Amino acid sequence: MRMHELIDVQEDTMGERQTRRGFMGVTAGALTGAFGRPWFTSTVAAAAGAEAGNADLIVINAKVYTVDTRMPRAEAFAVKNSRFIAVGTNDEIKGLAGKDTRTVDAKQMTIVPGFTDCHNHAGGETLLYEVLVGNPFDVEFVTIDSIIGKLRAKARQTPAGTWVEGYFFDDTKVKDKRQLNVHDLDEVSLDHPVVVGHRGGHTSFYNSKALEMAGVTKATQNTPGGTYDRDEKGELNGRVTDTARSVFNNVGKRETFTPEQRDQRGKDGIAHISKQFVRYGLTTVHHEGGNLAAMQEVRARGELLHRVSYEASGRVLDSMIASGIQTGFGDEWIKFGATSEHTVDGSFSERTMALSQPYPGNKSGYKGNVTETQETLNAWIEKVHRAGIQVNCHANGDVAIDMFLTAVERAQKLFPRADARPKITHCTLINDSLVQRIKALDAIPAMFTTYAYYNSDKFVFYGEDMMKRSMAYRSFLDAGVHAAAGSDFSPGPFAPLMGMQGMVTRKGWDGKVWGANQKITVEEAIKVNTLHGAYASKEEAIKGSITPGKLADFVVLSEDPHTIDPEKIKDIKIVRTVVGGNTAYEA
Ligand SMILES: [Zn+2]
Repeated sequence: MRMHELIDVQEDTMGERQTRRGFMGVTAGALTGAFGRPWFTSTVAAAAGAEAGNADLIVINAKVYTVDTRMPRAEAFAVKNSRFIAVGTNDEIKGLAGKDTRTVDAKQMTIVPGFTDCHNHAGGETLLYEVLVGNPFDVEFVTIDSIIGKLRAKARQTPAGTWVEGYFFDDTKVKDKRQLNVHDLDEVSLDHPVVVGHRGGHTSFYNSKALEMAGVTKATQNTPGGTYDRDEKGELNGRVTDTARSVFNNVGKRETFTPEQRDQRGKDGIAHISKQFVRYGLTTVHHEGGNLAAMQEVRARGELLHRVSYEASGRVLDSMIASGIQTGFGDEWIKFGATSEHTVDGSFSERTMALSQPYPGNKSGYKGNVTETQETLNAWIEKVHRAGIQVNCHANGDVAIDMFLTAVERAQKLFPRADARPKITHCTLINDSLVQRIKALDAIPAMFTTYAYYNSDKFVFYGEDMMKRSMAYRSFLDAGVHAAAGSDFSPGPFAPLMGMQGMVTRKGWDGKVWGANQKITVEEAIKVNTLHGAYASKEEAIKGSITPGKLADFVVLSEDPHTIDPEKIKDIKIVRTVVGGNTAYEA
C-alpha cells in the first residue's frame, strides 16, 4: 500500500506521467484544507502516518520551496520517523504537534530540499592529512611564497629523500600572475623530491631533486599523451603533464602506514568530508568509489552525516557483476548507484576533451584525446547494462558523448532494459542531435556544478561559440532531459550555491559571462540540484523534494535565492542542514 502511494508521489513530482489518481488526491486534500479540516487526510501524507500530536519535528514560519509541482510553496511541514509526513500551512502543521514534538521556528527563512552532488571524488583524507596549497572550497588567490612556505614546513618534518607533496594548486588562481616553476620548488628543498599537484588532476609541478631522481633531463623525450614542459630557453620548467608523470611513481620514499593506520585514516577521511558536505547543504553525494568498509564503520559510529550513492569501479564493480548486486542495493544511507565514471575522453578544464573540430587557435589541428575505442566501450557498456547496473561514463567532448550514446543504443537494442537511465558524467559540449539522442534514452547528463563561476578564467581557450554549447543546462531542460549537477571535486569546488549562481548568471568570479544562452532560472537550478539529482540515482521516490513520504532531508538558507541579487547566491549562508529529520549541521 505504502510503496504504491510513494510511486504516485514520485511520478507527480517529476511533472510527468502524472496519474489521474495522484492529481485528484491532492486536489481533494488541498480543498479540504481550505475548509478548515486537516488537509492531509485524503493525501499521501495520511499513508505515512500523520496524526494529531505524533510528529517528531515540525518546522513552521518558513518560506518552503518544496520542488513538488503539486504544492510548490508552503509555510510549514512535519517529520516523523525520518520522513516528511505533511506539508502545508502553519495552522495545519501545528495541529500535528504533541508534547514530545520538537518545533523549529524558521523565522521566515527559506527552506529547500537537501542538495545532491552527482559526481564527487570525496577526498577526505587529502583534506585532512595533506598540505593544501590552494583553497579547495572557494575562489582564492594565493602567492607562490605561501606555497613554498607551507611545503618548507612539511619538509622540515620529513626525512630527506621522502616526497613532499602539495595539493589543490590551481594555475589560474595565483597572485603572482606567472606559472609555478622548478626554481620555486627548489626553494622548498634540494634534499627532498617535491611535487605540487594541480586540482584538475592532469598536471604536476616538480623540483630539481624529483626530476633528477626520475632521470628526467633536458634531453628526455615527451611520452605519448604526456609532456615535460620547458621554459623559453629550452630548460625543464618543472611542469609535467598526464602520462609523462608515470616516471615519478617508483622513485623516492613515500610515507608508509600500518594497516591499522590506513584504516584509521580512511575512516577519519570519510567522517571529515561528510562534515564538509553538510556544511554546504549537501545531503546526498554520489561518490566515485572510495573505501566502502570505512563508510560503513563511520556510519555505525554515527559520523556519516550525508547519504552516499556509491559508484563502483574495478574490483568492486566486478564483484557486483559476479554476485548479482544491481543498482539500488543498499539502504537509505549507503546504496550502490551507477558505476563510477568510465573514461572516454580527456578533460574540459585542462583542454584535452575530444572535439569534432580542432581546438580554437591550435595550429597543429589538435582535437583532444579519445581514451578508448568504440569496440572496447561497446563491450564494457554491454557487460554492465546486462548486469542491471546503471552505466556511467566520463564524456566531455561531443565526440566522446556520441561514442557513449552509440554504445548505449547498441546495448539497449541487444538487451532492452526499461528505465536504464544511463549517466553521462560532465557531458560538457553538446549539439542538437546529441540532445535528442540523450532525451530518447532518458540519459542523465551530470554536468559541472561550479565551473561556470569557478573556472571562467579557462573558457577563453574554447571561446564563446563553444561555450554556448557547453554545460548546456538550458538546452537540456528545454528538451525535457533530467539534467543534474556534479562538482567533480577535487577539480571543482562542491558548494551547491556557488554552482547555482553560475547556472543562473553564467558569470564567473572574474566578471566574465560565457554562454549566456544556457542560463536557467533559480527555480530550475534548485530542481537540478535536488530532484534531478535524486532522479540520477533512481531515488526520486524517496529524495529530492519536500513531499510527504520522502526522507526529511532539507536545508535552511539565510536568504531566498529567488529574490536576492543573483550574483550573491553563493554568499547565502547555510543556516541548518537536516538529514532524516536530524540536524547534521548548524551555523
Ligand atoms: Zn571525476
